[in-house]
Amino acid sequence: MKISVIVCAAGRGERAEMGRNKLLVPFNGANALYYTLEGVRRLSASLKQKGADEVSEVIVTSSPEDLQEIDALCLPYGYKTVTGGATRSASVANALKEVQGEIVLIQDGARPYTTTEQYLSCIDCVKQYGSAVTAMPATDTTVIEKDGYVNNIPARNAVYRVQTPQGFYTREIKRAYALAANDGGTYTDDGAVYSRYISPARICPCGTESNKKLTYKEDFTDAANDCAIRINEAAAHRCGYGVDVHAFGKKQDFVTLCGVRIPCDTGLIAHSDGDVALHAVMDAILSAAGLKDIGHYFPDSDPAFKGADSAKLLATVIDTVQKKGLKVNGLSVAIQAEKPRLAAHIDKMVENLSKLTGAPKDSISVTAGTCEGLGFVGEGRGICAYCTAVLTQIR
Ligand code: MG
Repeated sequence: MKISVIVCAAGRGERAEMGRNKLLVPFNGANALYYTLEGVRRLSASLKQKGADEVSEVIVTSSPEDLQEIDALCLPYGYKTVTGGATRSASVANALKEVQGEIVLIQDGARPYTTTEQYLSCIDCVKQYGSAVTAMPATDTTVIEKDGYVNNIPARNAVYRVQTPQGFYTREIKRAYALAANDGGTYTDDGAVYSRYISPARICPCGTESNKKLTYKEDFTDAANDCAIRINEAAAHRCGYGVDVHAFGKKQDFVTLCGVRIPCDTGLIAHSDGDVALHAVMDAILSAAGLKDIGHYFPDSDPAFKGADSAKLLATVIDTVQKKGLKVNGLSVAIQAEKPRLAAHIDKMVENLSKLTGAPKDSISVTAGTCEGLGFVGEGRGICAYCTAVLTQIR
């Protein structure tokens, strides 16, 4: 089934008192909208993996003044933007005009912590019950006030806190919004519009405390304090470190580093091609994936790996981590060598690493230095390479 996603980002976020759209202020190294869009991207990847449904389009609402910035955020994902209206309802109504999928999920841009499971629960709930309003049972007692006094106390087990995503069959929610267009009503969410004109929306009890909407200034402060952990959980970034050393002494006139053949008066002694840099890269990637080191996968006692092209071994490593649902997001490689001079070869090394690992070139760095005459590197007896790798869980 084709699933459309609307992300609401057209608000001004006045309650956050930031003087501008709270979704676009610097937040945990990016901004809140970026993390919400990343959540949608993870949903797409997850559905692709399952193969039954697909996210066929993502539409992000934006105020005219934020359009340029939100367009730029959406560009890498191929998501569309539409201009919002004066209220949340008006913005959603505008976005709905563009929607073509059979089911539409509507998500607050200010909920960066929504998990893939929550999105999937909503899709299932729509299929089973016709609609889905993410909600969690209230833990506090809630009261209805009148003239400053408690007028009515709903039974606590009957009260839910409503969140997003909310899901509907597109034709029904379009009809509900069309009917609501001129009724003068104030609707704070889509379930209310649906319930008013179609039928009572179904509660999808997958809501959680952590799926909170960043509303007030302190939400951003609190979030900034503990969100590094949450974002890491959500995006599942993983870090690994690798080190390798090889000694000079092979009778040849080059060394191979990151797959680049570099003239040298001696080669590196190794069972494989001695690409000490790629060995560090492989160990870092395997380590980030929680796997064993390259010696385990490519033992130097195995004649199959004699003189092996390390680039091919790296291809096997990439294949292995991909099977775990991981991709390489960034690499930082440092090489210490008294010889040969490496500066002229750095760009080519970065290009190779990008080709071999799939990580974008601008998130790969290779730095090189000498060891100031100290230790085995300084004495020109070998080369040492270090690598830090960052991997991201893509499904
Ligand atoms: Mg090695």
